Amino acid sequence: MNNKKHILIVGAGLTGAVIARELAEAGHAVRIIDSRSHIAGNCYSERDARTGIMVHTYGPHIFHTDNQTVWDYIHRFCTMMPYINRVKATAAGQVFSLPINLHTINQFFHTTCSPVQAKALIDSKSDKSLTDPQNFEQQALRFIGRELYQTFFKGYTIKQWGISPSALPAAILKRLPVRFTYDDNYFSHRYQGMPRDGYTALAAAILDHPLITVELNRSFQTEDRASCDHLFFTGPLDAYYQFAYGRLGYRTLDFEKFYDEGEFQGTAVMNYCDQDIPFTRITEHKYFSPWETHQGSVCYREYSRQSEPGDIPYYPVRQVDEKTMLARYVALASQETGVTFAGRLATYRYLDMDITIAEALAAAGRYLGCLRDATPM
Ligand code: UDP
Repeated sequence: MNNKKHILIVGAGLTGAVIARELAEAGHAVRIIDSRSHIAGNCYSERDARTGIMVHTYGPHIFHTDNQTVWDYIHRFCTMMPYINRVKATAAGQVFSLPINLHTINQFFHTTCSPVQAKALIDSKSDKSLTDPQNFEQQALRFIGRELYQTFFKGYTIKQWGISPSALPAAILKRLPVRFTYDDNYFSHRYQGMPRDGYTALAAAILDHPLITVELNRSFQTEDRASCDHLFFTGPLDAYYQFAYGRLGYRTLDFEKFYDEGEFQGTAVMNYCDQDIPFTRITEHKYFSPWETHQGSVCYREYSRQSEPGDIPYYPVRQVDEKTMLARYVALASQETGVTFAGRLATYRYLDMDITIAEALAAAGRYLGCLRDATPM
């Protein structure tokens, strides 16, 4: 190929891997670097040395999507196993089913409501004066009422985000449906599943192309920019500019790992909604691979806190101050030529894996389109 470009990609997570693959398949030479000792970013999974169970080292990742292109795309690189995420919640001394569904409602209110009756019950609880909810708390009070909000959302959200739900955007709650049926599937998407051999194997398969070279334990240096025709940067946007306008806030997670000889909680995810319990949830990872059998069990208690320099960034906080700071970084980024910023960290958004893949495909497509436009065949 006479128009072969030398591409540098910073970050070997899903975004970097998908872009690398698209460009390599178009005939370009791709070098991908990552400061960590492994590929796959935060969806990295590995087998626990003691039990052999596949663990999601940076917290549970469940693949779900409505996007046919993305669903077809991952099937090129892995075998997906059927998996439905069903989450339980311990709250106020009881175990409930999440997301809030007819079972949760009937358990919580000690009723035997039909769907129509449950709708009327929740409607009677909702605060109708909040016609235009401005934040997470108002959104919850408007749609599910005070009792359900305080039991399931208030404590959990304060632990997860470290701030009052009245200071959080309403959109966070919109991630969770309320159902008036017994459907306890945590997600409403058409497709859902788990890669049979884990996410690391999926990322490795995407990266397995003769025109892609991967370098681990290698941080991006400003000088690297000059070594390539085009840079795709998937690391934190503020880090790219050496935190010139300050640090964008993230929540980070601490995991407390423990073992059990048999079954610890009997399900993959148990949320703890009471505020006086310091962790948000316990995950028992053998239930993420129900097609495998293992002796014993490995679990993680998950604690959320404000990220400090050096911590792994997980959830972008996106408070008012952060949005102002982000706008300044985005203005800088938009002036760059020869650099594309893509992915969760570089765009400072909370992205599900399917959106990550869709956006990575789009970013690669835009770059290839520009090349074609610039150099007619
Ligand atoms: N949430 C809650 N209680 C729960 C589960 C979720 O209050 O038991 C809130 C919490 O603020 C969380 C948001 O709903 O950040 C979105 O939940 P989701 O399960 O999507 O969170 P994630 O998968 O990001 O951990």
